[in-house]
Amino acid sequence: MQLTNRKVVVSHKELSFAERMYLPAVAKGMAITLSHLFKKSPTIDYPKKTRPMSVTYRGRHVLKRDENGAERCVACGMCAVACPAEAITIVSAERKKGEEHLYREEKYASSFEINMLRCIFCGLCEDACPKEAIFLTDRLVDAEFEREDFIYGKEKLVEKIDKRIDITKRQTQAVLDFKKIPGLRHNTLFDPKKQVKH
Ligand code: SF4
Ligand code: SF4
Repeated sequence: MQLTNRKVVVSHKELSFAERMYLPAVAKGMAITLSHLFKKSPTIDYPKKTRPMSVTYRGRHVLKRDENGAERCVACGMCAVACPAEAITIVSAERKKGEEHLYREEKYASSFEINMLRCIFCGLCEDACPKEAIFLTDRLVDAEFEREDFIYGKEKLVEKIDKRIDITKRQTQAVLDFKKIPGLRHNTLFDPKKQVKH
């Protein structure tokens, strides 16, 4: 019974001494290895070198400050609720008199932690934030030896006042257009004079 049309002709030629010593096969293998020396390597010397990232790459988070340098986060917890990995832990506190330059609104996050080992970089925290306080960036999470070093607190998350992180390319045109509509701006600075008295 014939199952396929494929045939392999088996040679019964007697192997030479060199063939019995695998010398042609070794030479062929070495030639393939040497040929790779002259080809462009598909790998890079990471972390010294990194590949160019998309502007919307979802990497390490940043907690933004406003144009006056105050922290934008109001510890509302929307990001923590939206997070499918339960990676965000927030402790809120009330802003005291004289701290207006530090925190944008009356409530702020006294502690804000993201567990980078749990995070799946989905970006839902960024989408959920009503204050444009949290964004993912194209920065990578550093390699660490200890698990606790992957829990990022405010010291790693809040942007440095003299080293701002540009996230404008992450904002869609719809968001940028929305912010131009007078009267609809949800991120206007808190003004105590305009506060509604009850
Ligand atoms: S990127 Fe996704 S998983 Fe990571 S903290 Fe934000 S919501 Fe959670
Ligand atoms: S980052 Fe945004 S969503 Fe999360 S607690 Fe702060 S203001 Fe709320």
